[in-house]
Amino acid sequence: MVKLAEWRGKDLFRKYGVPLPRGQVARSAAEAEQLTRSGTVPLPCVVKAQVLAGGRGKGGAVRFANTPEEARAAAQAILGLDFKGETVKELLLEEKLAIGRELYLSLTLDRSARLPILIASAQGGVEIESVDDAAIARIPIDPFPGLAAYERRRAAKVLGVTGPAAASLDRLLSALWRLFQQEDAELVEINPLAVVGEGLVALDAKVIIEDDAGFRHPEYSDIRDDRTPLEEIAREKEIAFVQLDGNIGVIANGAGLTMATLDVLKEFDGNPGVFLDLGGTDDPKKVTEAFLLMAQAKPRAVFLNIFGGVTRCDTVAKGLVAAMDQVPPAERFPLVARIRGNNEREGIEILRAAGITSIPSLKDSAQAVVAAARGTA
Ligand code: GDP
Ligand code: MN
Repeated sequence: MVKLAEWRGKDLFRKYGVPLPRGQVARSAAEAEQLTRSGTVPLPCVVKAQVLAGGRGKGGAVRFANTPEEARAAAQAILGLDFKGETVKELLLEEKLAIGRELYLSLTLDRSARLPILIASAQGGVEIESVDDAAIARIPIDPFPGLAAYERRRAAKVLGVTGPAAASLDRLLSALWRLFQQEDAELVEINPLAVVGEGLVALDAKVIIEDDAGFRHPEYSDIRDDRTPLEEIAREKEIAFVQLDGNIGVIANGAGLTMATLDVLKEFDGNPGVFLDLGGTDDPKKVTEAFLLMAQAKPRAVFLNIFGGVTRCDTVAKGLVAAMDQVPPAERFPLVARIRGNNEREGIEILRAAGITSIPSLKDSAQAVVAAARGTA
């Protein structure tokens, strides 16, 4: 998931022809003042923190300015703020428009319908979660013909957009659909979409690019900073590795088993802190590499839960034992294993020789690792 800052989202809007206020990014108070003094950003203007979290309006991260001095002061007040855990380093300055109504529009994926969906509401400007369901239209889209004319008209009706604005909404919706498809987005949201005079203007932009399409978008490689340093290394090595807040490391294979393992640990009041999905890998070298990465996350205990299908239990065990040997004694942690399936016997034997017992029951093994992480094993 690559979440784009508002200004990056708006760069995409511009590229696809979604109408925007005139604006510019600033990274210092002096720059904010200069942009308004020179007229690059017309006054009065809006000064907006470029953070990924929403609710900036309510949270004091969107301010208004009538003069270059006020723009400077607003910038000064917002830059460096800690907004929901993010430090504000960039601002977007835009002309302040006289808004009529505020509307809501988004395109996203409806996973249960397995289709893209257009969501529209005449009650924009507030979080969509807080809007009454009856006031929200959800229009599933057949991705092959794409967003059809009758669907765009249905959206216009829901939004109460008529007259000349209807033509501009129609173009905007087509543009949004093209953006959604061509940029591999999983979410494109405009909230609010403002009615300004006879036209429509996107005042906000939230765009999330689907991570699995990341290879098609090298332009975002510099902003994938929502990963921890270890996750970053893992990504380069093509290891599926995720860090959470807890203290138990989980090594499993396949997304299903990995998620189920996390659930089982939670069930027994354990706190998974980092997990690793070996997928179909049983290359001992890869297992060693992955395990060493996990060791760097300093878990209190590690749970190895492997089902050998294509993956062979013995080669996973081999990789694991080799890796454990490379962890300095002071940094070692208790390891609880449960390996079942292909070459199970050989795998269990390799682990036993290294002093690791494989517990066949999921319940017993999960409870053992939870106890080990608590130091009560
Ligand atoms: P969010 O709260 O993080 O979603 O930030 P938004 O970009 O949606 O801005 C919050 C609110 O600021 C909007 O709902 C608008 O009411 C207001 N706002 C933003 N830009 C303008 C503008 O150009 N003119 C006016 N009048 N209000 C604006
Ligand atoms: Mn918004």
